[in-house]
Amino acid sequence: MVSSDWQTDLRKRGYRLTPQRQLVLEAVDALEHATPDDILAEVRRTAHGVNISTVYRTLELLEELGLVSHAHLGHGAPTYHLADRHHHMHLVCRDCTTVIEVDVAMAAGFTDELRRRFGFDTDMKHFAIFGRCEQCGTPEPDGAP
Ligand SMILES: [Zn+2]
Ligand SMILES: [Zn+2]
Ligand SMILES: [Zn+2]
Repeated sequence: MVSSDWQTDLRKRGYRLTPQRQLVLEAVDALEHATPDDILAEVRRTAHGVNISTVYRTLELLEELGLVSHAHLGHGAPTYHLADRHHHMHLVCRDCTTVIEVDVAMAAGFTDELRRRFGFDTDMKHFAIFGRCEQCGTPEPDGAP
């Protein structure tokens, strides 16, 4: 469930949570790692008139307002999270496309070093890190040569 604080938060900033915006936000909440197309499909279950450009515009607005944020898990469309739940990096397996969520704190050693050496503030959440998961990467002990 998403907290009803949005409503107050949005109103304070002069925005109203229209039913469409609410539906998009709820879809982001329910789906996790949803692309705009996934979100459209979910929203259309209740609001048939919504089209993809409405979804894009709404996501853009919600992102501007700091309610949702996006991450790139591959070459396709970005995927969306509720902003207050997005404090993780994504490890994506090249072979089976499994997505593992890892707290950004795990990269602290690396990002601290980048800040120290380059004054660079690294955002580990925005792009996924590609590799091979345990299942795909580890050969069976008595399997393949
Ligand atoms: Zn991006
Ligand atoms: Zn895998
Ligand atoms: Zn995620």
